[in-house]
Amino acid sequence: VFDLAGKKVYVAGYTGMVGSALVRRLQCEQCDILTVGRNDVDLRRQGEVEVWMAEAKPDVVFLAAARVGGILANSSQPVDFLYENLMIEANLIHASYQTSVKKLVFLGSTCIYPKLAPQPISEDSLLTGPLEPTNEWYAIAKIAGIKLCQAYRAQHGCDYISIQPTNLYGPGDNYDLQSSHVLPALLRKAHDARCRGSEAMEVWGSGEPLREFLHVDDLADAVVHLARTYSGPKPVNVGSGEEISIRSLAELICEIVGFTGNLVFDDSKPDGVPRKLADTSFLHALGWDRARSIRDGIAQTYANAIFENE
Ligand code: GDP
Repeated sequence: VFDLAGKKVYVAGYTGMVGSALVRRLQCEQCDILTVGRNDVDLRRQGEVEVWMAEAKPDVVFLAAARVGGILANSSQPVDFLYENLMIEANLIHASYQTSVKKLVFLGSTCIYPKLAPQPISEDSLLTGPLEPTNEWYAIAKIAGIKLCQAYRAQHGCDYISIQPTNLYGPGDNYDLQSSHVLPALLRKAHDARCRGSEAMEVWGSGEPLREFLHVDDLADAVVHLARTYSGPKPVNVGSGEEISIRSLAELICEIVGFTGNLVFDDSKPDGVPRKLADTSFLHALGWDRARSIRDGIAQTYANAIFENE
């Protein structure tokens, strides 16, 4: 077991949804949590990252900094998603090597897997087929990050691991309807529709795609578990194992929010991949299986956090 107690632990991307959940979770670990804001260090710039890492000298790095977004943002801003993510991860992973970081945990996403990968998607399906075009820019960058971790392990013996979370939701989520993912978007739409007394609420695509969702605090718990107990080149999927159609998700959200109007499906918007369920048998074999149910997770999220971004 890799003990986090007494270690200097740098959370890159601490203002994001994943980074802030990690900071909350790490507060239970008796470690010294390091963070730095984007006005002080621009992670896209190698010189700034090198200076920060040389001064901070962390023992552990959680790499949760990334340009992220939903299906529309990803397909309309390819440069931001590819270039910025490549720079952030290359700079941080290389600087971790230069400063002898003992453990690095790289956060990816299950959208790195081929569009038509057999379901549930095993870690072994990485690079076995073409990607989903709506998020290939982000996916290519994240695949490069996983490969960088494997390369530093192979060439220099560095203990760098990669984790692929499924679709996340929870505190700190993005509720901007143009750039958000589906779950926060539907929470926001249902809330607004109820408040305005609307008769209908719009849902993008056909409603048929299947997705899996994980509360970000469950992810943070799994990440800390893996940081402590896992060392190896194989990336690890983290998911809830529970699958739901977009239509059923919309219905569940309406029920939780108390919106009783109709759902209207907008076929002009893309569906994305038909199905995306992570195979979490490797994670379970590594001793973590504590995800809350989607109903509980959404109810908590709605009760606590819906308009925190405003
Ligand atoms: P994906 O999981 O990478 O495809 O990204 P999203 O979370 O953005 O979208 C998941 C699915 O939800 C897609 O089929 C979307 O078309 C559908 N969807 C339905 N309504 C919405 C919405 O209001 N916002 C978003 N982002 N997706 C929606």
